Amino acid sequence: MEDCLFCDIIAGKTKGEIIKENEFVVAFRDINPMAPVHALIVPKKHIATLNDVAEEDAELISQAVFMAREVAEDEGIRAEGYRLVWNCNRHAGQTVFHIHLHLLGGRYMGWPPG
Ligand code: AMP
Ligand code: ZN
Repeated sequence: MEDCLFCDIIAGKTKGEIIKENEFVVAFRDINPMAPVHALIVPKKHIATLNDVAEEDAELISQAVFMAREVAEDEGIRAEGYRLVWNCNRHAGQTVFHIHLHLLGGRYMGWPPG
């Protein structure tokens, strides 16, 4: 996929602080963390937005959730809790158009979100 920052990080063409990966997804630290733990879980397949996820991608989505949970465990935030966020398009503030699951934790987070 041309001109995709996250495809470049996955391919090793752009440096990312990779935490963990498997056949389906890569987890790396967000460059501008909004919480003490802020990782992005990114499917290796390029999909622009959640609206573009197809039935055949179901495995990728569940793998992203399981990977987020593993990273939460490794980072020591599993018991206190954490937040998983998929931003989709303009109203949610999506800025990188390759789907990614935000894992946020290490502090109390308010509700509703901004
Ligand atoms: P979103 O606004 O949901 O599209 O999230 C995009 C996220 O990517 C933001 O939290 C950015 O801080 C993060 N980000 C942008 N560039 C990089 C990068 N080179 N490495 C890691 N995270 C990045
Ligand atoms: Zn991509």
